[in-house]
Amino acid sequence: MSKVRSARRVSAFADSVFGEMTRLANLHGAVNLSQGFPDFEAPAAIKDAACAAISRDQNQYAPPYGTRELCEAIAGDFSRRHGVPIVADEQVTVCCGSTEAMMAVMLSCLDPGDEVIVFEPFYENYGPDAILSGATPKFVRLREPDWAFDPAELGAAFSNRTRAIVINSPNNPTGKVFSRDELQVIAELCQRWDAIAISDEIYEHILFDGRAHIPIASLPGMAERTVTTSGLSKTFSVTGWRVGWAIAPASLTGGIRKIHDFLTVAAPTPFQDAGAVALTMGDEVYAALAAGYQAKRDLLMGILERQGFTCYQPGGAYYLMADVRPFGFASDAEFAHYLIKDIGVATIPGSSFYIDPKTAPPTVRFCFSKQDETLREAGRRLAKLPCSAEL
Ligand code: GLN
Repeated sequence: MSKVRSARRVSAFADSVFGEMTRLANLHGAVNLSQGFPDFEAPAAIKDAACAAISRDQNQYAPPYGTRELCEAIAGDFSRRHGVPIVADEQVTVCCGSTEAMMAVMLSCLDPGDEVIVFEPFYENYGPDAILSGATPKFVRLREPDWAFDPAELGAAFSNRTRAIVINSPNNPTGKVFSRDELQVIAELCQRWDAIAISDEIYEHILFDGRAHIPIASLPGMAERTVTTSGLSKTFSVTGWRVGWAIAPASLTGGIRKIHDFLTVAAPTPFQDAGAVALTMGDEVYAALAAGYQAKRDLLMGILERQGFTCYQPGGAYYLMADVRPFGFASDAEFAHYLIKDIGVATIPGSSFYIDPKTAPPTVRFCFSKQDETLREAGRRLAKLPCSAEL
């Protein structure tokens, strides 16, 4: 018998749900509202910049921590918008997507035995990232309908084993935007327990109903203990380019850069050149993005409410969680599979964002980063959905 097998760490977590739901959507010809990526064009100016960079032969390794132009653009953009001074040379690391940035941050900031607090429901990578770093994730619930956390429960989760907390605002999957008061509670706990705030701000520009983005790094005393991750993917509709970054105090940047260099060397050079162009396009681009997504949120919410879903209105990001109890299925996963196969619409079962799916409220997550016509087609298909009384 062969002893060939995967390492034990691989069995500590499941396969990613996103690629699997997209695979099933393609298999069954379903409208894919599962994995979060746009089905519309990226801005012409940045596509032209990427093509021009390739033609100029910007096709070899970039400097490991990012091209000078992109690092300066990231630092300048963050400083300008949030009044937090950032020194590009000392604080910015460009990675292959914010997914790699998060992995590099956890591998470089967490020791085996450390605990990292993660709000639940959570974007699925945070658990495996913490486990691969040897740390133990500790989950604190965000509770529907407004996905608030209980400050006492959060306070009780901190201890002298807590090395970090992960914040994701605007939040995937709930669309929750953390208020300044909530961020202040988190900031005080980080300071009291000497913990790092790891803030995933990939949806920073997708905010609705007049909300403003508040990075936790901008709260008093937090810049020195916050790592902010973000990227081009969601703001500029280029999820396949894999350009993200971490902004961190100099004391943490050395470690992040070291891990990043050994993981991937550098992010794709021509897309970094395009990123430097993207980040200097101006605030109108960000405003138009938010307004466009707000209209898509409203379109999808109208469709879903007409079909009998109870929707939790998102304040940001491009996902909508809907309660599926009216349809009478045994679990949200069962409902999601029925939706793909029998109705022709792919979603993500909400329970996949929980550590113990049995304790999750029965929801599915719809992605509305889609052309209006795609959302309308999903609506036409969902109109075939019987409510539980008819099932
Ligand atoms: N962030 C996207 C989502 O939540 C894609 C995730 C992925 O493909 N790993 O759907």
